[in-house]
Amino acid sequence: MPPGGSGVRAEQIATLDRLAHELFISPEIGRLLERLAPWEDAQEYDSDEASLVRVTRRDWEKARQVPAELRAEMSRASSLALPVWAKARETSDFASFLPVLRANLELRRRYVECFDGYDEPYDVLLDDFERGTTTAEVRIVFERLKTEQVPLATAAARNGDRPARDRPYPLEAQRRFELQVLERFGFDRSEWRLDSTVHPFASSLGTDDIRLTTRYHEDNLDGLFATMHECGHGLYENGVSSALERTPLARGTSLGLHESQSRLWENLVGRSLPFWRYFFPRLRECFPEALADVELEDWYRSVNWVAPSLIRVEADEATYNLHVILRFELEQELLMDTVDLAELPEIWNDRMRSYVGVEPPNDRLGVLQDMHWAGGHIGYFSTYALGNVISAQIWEKVSAEIPDLHDQFEQGEFGELRAWLGERLYRHGRKFTPKETLERVVGGPIDPDPYLRYLRTKLATLT
Ligand code: ZN
Repeated sequence: MPPGGSGVRAEQIATLDRLAHELFISPEIGRLLERLAPWEDAQEYDSDEASLVRVTRRDWEKARQVPAELRAEMSRASSLALPVWAKARETSDFASFLPVLRANLELRRRYVECFDGYDEPYDVLLDDFERGTTTAEVRIVFERLKTEQVPLATAAARNGDRPARDRPYPLEAQRRFELQVLERFGFDRSEWRLDSTVHPFASSLGTDDIRLTTRYHEDNLDGLFATMHECGHGLYENGVSSALERTPLARGTSLGLHESQSRLWENLVGRSLPFWRYFFPRLRECFPEALADVELEDWYRSVNWVAPSLIRVEADEATYNLHVILRFELEQELLMDTVDLAELPEIWNDRMRSYVGVEPPNDRLGVLQDMHWAGGHIGYFSTYALGNVISAQIWEKVSAEIPDLHDQFEQGEFGELRAWLGERLYRHGRKFTPKETLERVVGGPIDPDPYLRYLRTKLATLT
């Protein structure tokens, strides 16, 4: 869409959103759900049918608290804010973003007021992305991560130049190599697409229609990790049982679980030594010039380079969660209206210095870097770190059940891992809540220890 189309598009989306919302929250849907209740009770809890009615009822009960007008206003404000943010970010001009941020926050406060029975206002927003998870629960996990990760990241931080960067990596060869990796992961050209964009994302229009976008840099291969990340999202959607197609259950159960899959394929697989034992010779074939003097061990160090950095999406595994925790804490204050919005860039920069150890030189590399607040997605960020935590929990479980997983990676085999995840997680779609799902996959609740164990072990291999 040309940038000038965004005004009309905002109105169109708001109209569609309002109509869909009105239809869904109508009393007729309530009556139908009511009539289904006895039948639902007669079905097994785990059955597709009972799950469909249960999840739809839960969605309906939450949605009907929100007037259609407010829903439309939120949608319109987000669509209008996005291009304002994009321009403000480009010119590093926070002041021009301030009015739309204020409007989005005001609408979120009105949204929270539609509900009652929560412990903290932020719970309502978090629940939209991670159903049933409270701010207090997340806070416990994040406090632990913060306490452990700040010193870990400081100790592991490296000086000097990262190997194999700032060299020419022809874009066509990058795409060729990425497709080799993706096809090993399960990318099938008859059901998947890979295209380039400014901000990588994955979307699915059905379990057999998976669309990934990524971005390429000409002087490094960081784009590959964004591609593996989006592929992880795609594998989850692609793995949902086709019996759930065209129902509200036909997607991942929450953003945290979704992110556990993107991070698992990006990091636990894609930044592991066994993975590169198989792929590094192939990478070298694609980039004979750039990698002529680079050995496997240098490359492994390069893709796991720990250094404090400004941009969340490019952060290493030791500092990534700290970027998220900063946003999680700040969002609660923004919602409570306890920070002066005009001072937000300064507050951001101060906290970056104390959490991550760097100070942004401008707002483009600081408070304006993410699109979430412009898109109205307040409460979203924490799911990124929850995803990291869950990815390591799942990893411990699958590693125990398939002890030769790393040998398989060295042979370029990822099918057994994908099948395990498909059986335990992907096929269920949204049938179970995030907590139920995690319990079924790993046998317990969210726990930061596996991630911290993984991180310590990994960092020890890099010294
Ligand atoms: Zn993601």
